[in-house]
Amino acid sequence: MTEIDPYLKIYVEQLRGGKNWPLHLDLEPDFLDICEKELTFVDPIRLDGQAYLAHEELVVQVSIKTKAQVPCRICNEPFKVNIVVDKLMHLEPIAGLKRGFFDISGILREAILLEVPSIAECHSGHCPARRDVERYLSKPSQGNDDEIEGYHPFRDL
Ligand SMILES: [Zn+2]
Repeated sequence: MTEIDPYLKIYVEQLRGGKNWPLHLDLEPDFLDICEKELTFVDPIRLDGQAYLAHEELVVQVSIKTKAQVPCRICNEPFKVNIVVDKLMHLEPIAGLKRGFFDISGILREAILLEVPSIAECHSGHCPARRDVERYLSKPSQGNDDEIEGYHPFRDL
């Protein structure tokens, strides 16, 4: 169990009296604690938002920007996709915060994982290996239909 990054802790006391706690941070992705073969995070995680108290709840309002590294579905090479969470809103009852702070890593992790595409293709959907794969896939038992619009090496002979 690693120590919680102090930037990820929002203390209720700091927000008393209607104070806003600005959240403008670049966090190392370690806190996500994701080490999977098919999904890694190496870029910083950018937060923009704020925390404040409303009635008996701690309100966290934050936009998240980072990049996830996933394998391309065509060539299988790892590449980075943009992850953007626009204005995540989380309400946490203060009564439940026994230690006096709220650790935002859980809500960030959950929001980021929801935005990771399950299928992704490199070069914004134009994987260079796509043509090879499509040629290979369309080859077996397609009959002569392929020939109509295809390559006619002997047409001019
Ligand atoms: Zn690819």
